[in-house]
Amino acid sequence: MMQLLRRALGVGLLLLAAVWATPAAYAQDPSGQLEVRFLDVGQADAILVRCPDGSHYLLIDSGDTRYPGSSKAFRQALLDEFRDRPKKLALVVASHPHADHIGSMQWVLETFDVDVYVDNGQKFDSALWAKLDKVRRRQVSDAEITYVAGKKTGFADLAFCPQVGVRLLVPWAVRELSNTNDRSVVVSLTYGKTSFLFGGDAEEHAEEVMVNDFEPGEREHLRVMVLKAGHHGSDTSSTLPFIAAVNPKTVVVSSGKKEVGTNARYKHPRHSTMQNYNNWLRNHDEGEPSSQPGRVWAYDKPGKRWRQIERRRGLWVTPEDGTVVMLSDGEKIEIRTEKTGAQVSVSP
Ligand SMILES: [Zn+2]
Repeated sequence: MMQLLRRALGVGLLLLAAVWATPAAYAQDPSGQLEVRFLDVGQADAILVRCPDGSHYLLIDSGDTRYPGSSKAFRQALLDEFRDRPKKLALVVASHPHADHIGSMQWVLETFDVDVYVDNGQKFDSALWAKLDKVRRRQVSDAEITYVAGKKTGFADLAFCPQVGVRLLVPWAVRELSNTNDRSVVVSLTYGKTSFLFGGDAEEHAEEVMVNDFEPGEREHLRVMVLKAGHHGSDTSSTLPFIAAVNPKTVVVSSGKKEVGTNARYKHPRHSTMQNYNNWLRNHDEGEPSSQPGRVWAYDKPGKRWRQIERRRGLWVTPEDGTVVMLSDGEKIEIRTEKTGAQVSVSP
């Protein structure tokens, strides 16, 4: 069974290690590759990670309840993946309690055997969250799940599977942040020389904390190959100092389609943010000609209109690309998209 070992480090951080059960005999088909799937769930987030051993899974966020088709797409993707295997998730992270991140989280807890459940530790005023939290508390008291409250834990290495490092980074644990988006739990994942950063909807204040207030040992976990752009490509996230600290080779924006559902109000991604990522990738591209061209929609806030923008190689957007699948062998990452059929390889 799951055991937790907590140990205070010199800098007052917590290290948390979980011991996982030996995988059963079912999963003997490991490709030896880490698979990271940015599911196309519209104006929402949902990321499913499968270990190179083929049997351990990490889920970050669970789509929305309001955006058309989001719940259905999310649940179908998970049911398809687990059709022939035990419905078991080693780690589940709810980045923060907004509906476009915890949309199907109660369903996840009730449908899957979850080992460790992480949220940001915030009490939130919504019926969706209250129902989820009731289930979460019952499963904790029945010892079905191990619960990690992000704000309290702050920084921790979460056991996931052999060879893959998962580090929890919580800006809210370092400085008081009033905005729920800024209270997002951030996850840094490493496999060999390849690495990923998932920051939920962390906005500029949280980014500033990460860049300026993190200890050097924590800050090094920000520097990754693959960045999931904060807050669906909004202009309230993805500040230039943060992009520079992350130093990404490739960036994924998970957002809704132009003027569809909740994105008629939010209008993600923003043109200025896409332009910033385009500029970053242009300056850091090692010259391979673009095999992934394509104009994508972004909202120009000052101009008050949607505009198409020519995106650089390495910039992915779920409304145009559909689900974005990344396969890492620890040396390089092969990226392919469901809708556009693009195939690109990225090296550290
Ligand atoms: Zn969101």
